[in-house]
Amino acid sequence: MIRITETNEGRSAPTITCDQCGKLIDEAKWGNCHWKTKDGNLTEDGKLYFTHKQCCAAFESADSSIMWHSTELTAFLRRLVHNLKADLSEDIGDRMLDQLP
Ligand SMILES: [Zn+2]
Repeated sequence: MIRITETNEGRSAPTITCDQCGKLIDEAKWGNCHWKTKDGNLTEDGKLYFTHKQCCAAFESADSSIMWHSTELTAFLRRLVHNLKADLSEDIGDRMLDQLP
């Protein structure tokens, strides 16, 4: 899940945790993004789930009635940034999350 967590420095930071083991996914290259479909249609309004790659098989096999689709977390983030037309060139430096515009 995507959520705000407190860092060791006491700051609030957006993070992604694994929906299988509950631990932080600290590098995008080690994560996957999942969503459910039924009869070719999205379910749960496209709700997203995240796992470590090593947790993926256990996560998807927990309920065999679900048709899972997934992509690598890095690819998902690239698509999200593209679809939001986000400008990632701005350096946010050390500003805290609540100081961002
Ligand atoms: Zn995990």
